[in-house]
Amino acid sequence: MNSRLAEEGRRKVVLHLAGCKACREEMALLIKLKKNQEENLKEVPQEIKTSAFSQIPKKKTWQNVFQCLDPLYDAMKLVGMTVRFATELI
Ligand SMILES: [Zn+2]
Repeated sequence: MNSRLAEEGRRKVVLHLAGCKACREEMALLIKLKKNQEENLKEVPQEIKTSAFSQIPKKKTWQNVFQCLDPLYDAMKLVGMTVRFATELI
């Protein structure tokens, strides 16, 4: 019974994705974030560990600040998309 419900859920999601560009974009972002996360799980080389702080740009330009905020921006975008995805499926 449980697997039948899961199957119907999957069908519903797949059908929705087929017709909804916004949710397909969310899916693409999820895959991208998952890939980033997996890459970040790899062991950080010692030379990066010891020099990472010295590689932070000394000159604080707005561009540098925004670059640092990129991962946060992606996360916020994902939260927004997930909420929309959930409300559309209800
Ligand atoms: Zn949608």
